[in-house]
Amino acid sequence: MRIFSASLGFILILWGVSLYIPFPREVLEPAPVVSLRILDRNGNLLREVLSDEEGRSQWISFQEIPQNVILATLAAEDSHFYKHIGIDLKAILRAVIQNIRARRILSGGSTLTQQLIKNIYHFPRNWFWKIVEIWYALRLEISLSKDEILTQYLNRVPYGNQTFGINAASWFYFNKPPSHLSQAEAAFLAGLPRGPSIYNPYRHFHRAQKRQREVLQRMLNKEMITQEEYKRAFKEPLNLVTSEIAFRAPHFCDFVLSKIPLKERQNISFIRTTLDFQLQKDVEVLLRNYVKSLEKWEVSNAAALIMDNETGEILSFVGSADFFDSSHSGQVSGITSLRQPGSALKPFTYALALEQGMTSATLIPDTEIHIRIKGINYAPKNYDGKFHGFIRLREALACSYNVSAVRVLEKIGVESLLRRLKKLDFKSLNKEPNYYGLGLTLGDGEVALLELTRAYSSLARAGVFKKEKIFLEIKDTQGKMKSFPESQSIRVFSPQVSYIITNILADKDARIPAFGEGSCLSLPFPCAVKTGTSGNFRDNWTIGYTPYWTVGIWVGNFDGSPMHSVSGVSGAGPLFRDIMFLLEKREKKNFNFAVPEGLIEVYVCPKSGMLAGSFCSGKIKEIFIKGTEPKQVCNLCPHVLLTNQEKLTTEDAENTEFTKNFK
Ligand SMILES: [Zn+2]
Repeated sequence: MRIFSASLGFILILWGVSLYIPFPREVLEPAPVVSLRILDRNGNLLREVLSDEEGRSQWISFQEIPQNVILATLAAEDSHFYKHIGIDLKAILRAVIQNIRARRILSGGSTLTQQLIKNIYHFPRNWFWKIVEIWYALRLEISLSKDEILTQYLNRVPYGNQTFGINAASWFYFNKPPSHLSQAEAAFLAGLPRGPSIYNPYRHFHRAQKRQREVLQRMLNKEMITQEEYKRAFKEPLNLVTSEIAFRAPHFCDFVLSKIPLKERQNISFIRTTLDFQLQKDVEVLLRNYVKSLEKWEVSNAAALIMDNETGEILSFVGSADFFDSSHSGQVSGITSLRQPGSALKPFTYALALEQGMTSATLIPDTEIHIRIKGINYAPKNYDGKFHGFIRLREALACSYNVSAVRVLEKIGVESLLRRLKKLDFKSLNKEPNYYGLGLTLGDGEVALLELTRAYSSLARAGVFKKEKIFLEIKDTQGKMKSFPESQSIRVFSPQVSYIITNILADKDARIPAFGEGSCLSLPFPCAVKTGTSGNFRDNWTIGYTPYWTVGIWVGNFDGSPMHSVSGVSGAGPLFRDIMFLLEKREKKNFNFAVPEGLIEVYVCPKSGMLAGSFCSGKIKEIFIKGTEPKQVCNLCPHVLLTNQEKLTTEDAENTEFTKNFK
């Protein structure tokens, strides 16, 4: 017994002496300030990353911290701060009892000093580290004065929205230095570190306000403020910097930051991006109003991306209708999240078909077909529920018929389509060809709006793929220009194939059978456009381009719940049209797509796709890669006397030159 108490005494003395080991000063030094400014292409500030959790904040001294901030912080977190020795025994005992009852760590009973230690060392949450934390806290109290500890705390603690330290928080939320904070504002900020995301005022303003009033009440109870001051602060309206200003182009800024590793970020002070903030604001308003108008169709979100075709620069990047609408997961970015593209991949299927010898006049059987998708037998149906017999490739693509797309993919092979899509940088299509099967062309693989939009921009660029560009200038903390890799240009399709696909996607007449006359996709200037709808109306897409810009739109719900029968046209189409009008107004240029060399136009019979003859019921101008144009005059019409309503039978079609691919 005596030995035991002697050793216990020895341990206690050791523990006591160990507290006098000086606290490592270097961890308390303020790290160099990192203020990273993200600007749009014209120099408008989009976001300033003020500080980070390694204590890089715009450090202020104890003298610069106003009394109201100190008192409010003490009231909110640790009112005995100036009396205790670094730990609050009563609070710890209370916490231990609570935690034992709940059989897990609920509350820490932490003092400001302990919270500061936690903030510096990020210890794991368990009993062992709790004791280590207490040991450090006691040592810190011996090494530093109370005022010094408070200064450390107020310069390091997180206030949410990536702000650390009272100075950064004061500028971020109220756009003023801490010395100008009112009593109400000081109490408001003092309440945030308890739960920076729970009390995030841009997402849960009422919670944050309730917390502020709690802090004010405590201040009153502790006689830190008078009844008068309490009443005034209680009533004072909180003029927070609006979220539109605090978070300009929020999804885009997040995207930009995600491209820079954390380590590198500390050496960067300035990024001029490609975004056009004026355009961004206009698109945000259009998108938000549009989603509101679709509420009754159970649509809660949309995303829009605009790329400059010549450079691949992203001009506008709106990831959701409202970044702060947590009930609809507004912080999710509809531009980078993966969704089923529906028909939006079909143009690439047909581009490959053109490469492999089909032409826009090739007759494709739009007749019943049975395929296996993921081991299940499946008979693809067209959107209108009908089969259309033998149709020209132009009609098949323009009207987005599913059955003909499957027939064509069957010819060209899933593997070769997948290989080409990978060349177009569809990184998310990372499974084996067998996994997707023929359903690939119907949109069974999941892709991101960003991937789709930049793939379409390659068609606009006459077949040349360019990765998106988001940086114009990057400067390091010394103000020196930093270099960044420029994206390479890769030819993915020939100019001729790209032009024919563009020509079909811009053909207002060819899409009439499926979309009707004067649909929202018919713009008064040349514009190639394609829609897509995934199963059960979960996702709705419209992607298209003029020679200058490519615009990608997604409409749907982030939780994957289906919309109420919104088709490609009524879903994303009107928003696409409005954005194209917006772009057209900005710069009126010649909107005609440049026609590459090596193409030839001939009149063909709309039924057979062969050269139009005198017996044919009509003739249409069709465009071919030189050498692939039809050589024979239609030998079908005189024999079978097709009327407008009649469809070709397989036997009839076999007489034409242009079914050779499907014999
Ligand atoms: Zn004919």
